[in-house]
Amino acid sequence: MSMIDKVAVVTGATRGIGRAIAERLQADGASLVVCGRDAARLKDWEQSGVVTVKADIADPDAAAGLVKTALDSWGRIDILVNNAGITRDGFLMRMPDNDWNDVLRTNLSGAFYLCRAAIRSMMKQRSGHIVNISSVIGVTGNAGQTNYAASKAGLIGFTKALARETAQRGILVNAVAPGYIETDMTEAMADKHREAILQQIPLGRTGTPQDVADLVHFLASDRNRYITGQTIHVDGGLVI
Ligand code: NDP
Repeated sequence: MSMIDKVAVVTGATRGIGRAIAERLQADGASLVVCGRDAARLKDWEQSGVVTVKADIADPDAAAGLVKTALDSWGRIDILVNNAGITRDGFLMRMPDNDWNDVLRTNLSGAFYLCRAAIRSMMKQRSGHIVNISSVIGVTGNAGQTNYAASKAGLIGFTKALARETAQRGILVNAVAPGYIETDMTEAMADKHREAILQQIPLGRTGTPQDVADLVHFLASDRNRYITGQTIHVDGGLVI
């Protein structure tokens, strides 16, 4: 039970990858604070003793409130996983300001708000693990996803800078870049598009939320002593 005595905050844990990450950490004994916007799904977490916060992480006050709740409830934060994210796909020429701003605010500013709120307590305790969920799209780009690619590439630069800023205080900051993972986010994709991506995955299958959760678990654990500022792909070899 490598996570006993660890307090983890996971954003976007009501579904998909975030849920799998939170379950993986909980299975190893971590005390959890999870957030999302879907009250019914948050109720499921409450039943297993998890502290839940209904919060829109794109709102700086709500993000700060989430961190405050974690500190009030457990007294410390050892692990912060910035997972919550959205897509609003469309070609640049026709992209409304809202689709650009919503994606940047949620995917990039959300992580900034959470890190800013949590970093002081991690610095004081001289330890902490932060894992930001980026995407291979932030590395390769993708037509129809300028907003999403910018947010995920931004997270990679953010991760590197914060890793440098906090290393001397024992805080390790990394990014994870998933490829094609089966969740609600990818469910809407047309079969033809999905098949085309599958052809490009050397391991011959799409990923599961658990594939991502296992890596996040390692990066956030005390077994990760010497990896910081990195972006690690979980993509079956899609981007090599
Ligand atoms: P889902 O759409 O399945 O789940 C997204 C989660 O984020 C939900 O729990 C949702 O909670 C939460 N969320 C979204 N916006 C907000 C917000 N403003 N405030 C709080 N919570 C929010 O996505 P995935 O599980 O597929 O994706 C998780 C992360 O992984 C995202 O950052 C995504 O970009 C990234 N990723 C996913 C890939 C994939 O193939 N699936 C590939 C690469 C990266 P609620 O509904 O309760 O608001």
